[in-house]
Amino acid sequence: MSEQNLFAELKPITFDGIDPNKPLVIAGPCSAESEEQVMDTAKGLAKSGIKIFRAGIWKPRTKPGGFEGIGLRGLLWMHQVKKETGMYTAIEVANREHVTAALDAGMDILWIGARTSANPFAMQEIADALKGHEEATVLVKNPVNPDIELWIGALLRLYNAGVRRLGAIHRGFSTYGKHLFRNEPQWHIPIELHRRIPNLPIICDPSHMGGKRELIGPISQQALDMGFDGLIIESHCDPDCALSDAKQQVTPESLNLIINTLVLRDTKQSTENLTLLRQHIDQCDNELIEVLSKRMAVCREIGQYKKEHNMQVVQNRRYSDIINKRVSQAEEMGLSGEFIQIVMQAVHEESVRQQIDVINKQIL
Ligand code: PEP
Ligand code: MN
Repeated sequence: MSEQNLFAELKPITFDGIDPNKPLVIAGPCSAESEEQVMDTAKGLAKSGIKIFRAGIWKPRTKPGGFEGIGLRGLLWMHQVKKETGMYTAIEVANREHVTAALDAGMDILWIGARTSANPFAMQEIADALKGHEEATVLVKNPVNPDIELWIGALLRLYNAGVRRLGAIHRGFSTYGKHLFRNEPQWHIPIELHRRIPNLPIICDPSHMGGKRELIGPISQQALDMGFDGLIIESHCDPDCALSDAKQQVTPESLNLIINTLVLRDTKQSTENLTLLRQHIDQCDNELIEVLSKRMAVCREIGQYKKEHNMQVVQNRRYSDIINKRVSQAEEMGLSGEFIQIVMQAVHEESVRQQIDVINKQIL
């Protein structure tokens, strides 16, 4: 059965009072730390129009000794956020007890962290705990390692347990060493996830992807440009003093600024003009392939000739003549010389391969 059929009954993730035509925005601190910090942040975010509040109350830390979350006490504060601001609430769950406590406390969204979605035992335990709670909304972060099958497997365990309001969160993938991104985006992976399960909403987490405040805006814009369905962003009333992920959190005021500068692309626009241009591109690609095929046929003839006259296949002078001539011709036509050099090198390599192929066939 194709994956599209496996996930056929997914339901859209919508909430009363939230425009389903706009990206879903979830914001809040990495961790719930104190009642005051939770309420201050939530009120600031509510003022900026944020409708869904996130906070981690159980924190998966890489090494022991860090702040491991406030635990069950945090659920009371989350409940108070709901009561005082009217916001929906989202927390991370990693085992059966977390799921039961979160559902009992009326949390509106449960998310699965990147370390948990990488673990099929934990995912099955969570799925079993969700059986009979078909109304639950669950978002699954990508596993820490870039393994799309593991990500889909985690989603499927929840779907098979009856969860229909299911979504994915792209938060990037771990790599060894220091890089610009805390977690590499590898955008092709969520794109492939969307191709395989088109009706699954995908939300971007620019905070954990970038790992620094300055990257939240640019990553969010890129995600929206690529058609992501929402954003989950970390925000803290006093980011520099945060007990976890301090460098990537922004105040509710900064978050408001970031969100207001994001450009929403019009997804309802007619793609008619684009269709014509795409047909044109297809036509150009056809011509390119035909010309390349013609060129390779000539190369095979040359191979035959060289064989009959006992000549070497690669003649260096001819090769550099071709490259130089084509690079300057390309530049005159407004193309990048560097680009054409790469193309011509690839074409030349394939031509040599074709000639050698002809020669070898004659020997056999
Ligand atoms: C988080 O959202 O605070 C979190 C722990 O994220 P991740 O699982 O992506 O590391
Ligand atoms: Mn975090």
